[in-house]
Amino acid sequence: MIKITRGTKDILEDEIPTWQWILDSAKNVFTKSNYVEIKTPIFEATELFQRGVGDSTDIVNKEMYTFCVGGADKTATSITLRPENTAGVVRAYIEHNLNRQSPPQKFWYFGPMFRYERPQAGRQRQFHQVGVEVFGCYEPIADAEVISCAVNFLKTLGLDDLTLELNSLGCKNCKNDYRESLKKALKPYLDDLCDDCKMRYEKNPLRILDCKNEDCQKIFMKPDIKDVIYNDYICDDCKSHFSELLGYLDELNIKYKINKLLVRGLDYYTRTVFEIKSESLGAQSALCGGGRYDGLVEMLGGAPTGAIGFAMGVERLYNLVKKIEKEKLDYFIVSNDPKHALVLANKLRLEGKSAEIDYQNRKFIKQLEKASKCAHRAIILGEDEIKGNFYSVKDLNSGVQEKIEDFRDLI
Ligand SMILES: [Zn+2]
Ligand SMILES: [Zn+2]
Repeated sequence: MIKITRGTKDILEDEIPTWQWILDSAKNVFTKSNYVEIKTPIFEATELFQRGVGDSTDIVNKEMYTFCVGGADKTATSITLRPENTAGVVRAYIEHNLNRQSPPQKFWYFGPMFRYERPQAGRQRQFHQVGVEVFGCYEPIADAEVISCAVNFLKTLGLDDLTLELNSLGCKNCKNDYRESLKKALKPYLDDLCDDCKMRYEKNPLRILDCKNEDCQKIFMKPDIKDVIYNDYICDDCKSHFSELLGYLDELNIKYKINKLLVRGLDYYTRTVFEIKSESLGAQSALCGGGRYDGLVEMLGGAPTGAIGFAMGVERLYNLVKKIEKEKLDYFIVSNDPKHALVLANKLRLEGKSAEIDYQNRKFIKQLEKASKCAHRAIILGEDEIKGNFYSVKDLNSGVQEKIEDFRDLI
């Protein structure tokens, strides 16, 4: 027997209504803020992620599903299953000149992502993300609106024990200064950092702050390192961007905590980065992560474009929200005349009603048993009904049965 691949999961009948509800809620909340859905392919050229997510990230280094297609000769292309969706949306934005529409251009998406990680609770190799991307905006009001959109969505799902953590990483003018000061300060501790951080030290030192290793975290608490981390290194423009954002959040009554160690895992972030955590999920894992990526569109070949977005792991959301029961059908047709039953079910379905029939011509009592489990009402279509051209409709909650002569009364 062939079993499911490690790190993947079947989503079965009893989970589908909750999944559907999460997706419907996302669509609802994002549409109200004028986002339109975008669907990009689940695989892209490998180079897109190498450039767009960053060569120094764990995602690109260790976790991508990359393979060659089209033969071993020079025509072979290296493609990768998307490990995240921002790079793909940015590629589509550039490729279709979506910047021609008046800014901001706002997109939301939902779909599977793929990362080759060690599977553990709440972490799969094929997982799902829902998220938004906004292009054509440098203004802090966009940051506030994107954050409020994430918060609104989580609240719609009934999650309210939320903590928003924020930081500003600075822009292309000041991010480098910070990077250099941090490198200088960390240099004496280089031998004490974990192996991952030793590698990050050269390629992406800010990511060291993201390390969950306890020994590394102890180093961040040393006074000379703390001095650098908590020093206001960002430039005046970045400072006023950040303080304007905080002002908007106050107006929106969104509580936040500034976390100077928050850098997020990806290379492309500039200025605002944020995470939303849930008390019930614990402090380590965020429900939502996002930030501003003003340099990414240009880096992937487009015009300089301010942009910001977030993504949420749907499996994590699923584990926190209340479970939704499967909705019952409008009708179950109880009949020993399959032709009449099929035709009636089809007519009802075309009129927008949900209906099911019995394939096996079982006894009425068996069919009624099944009907009461899955439908609100049973339409009994026996010999008398077919001859007399009427329907016996039984309410399966109250047990009351009535005679209906006109099909239109069923819809
Ligand atoms: Zn700056
Ligand atoms: Zn480390």
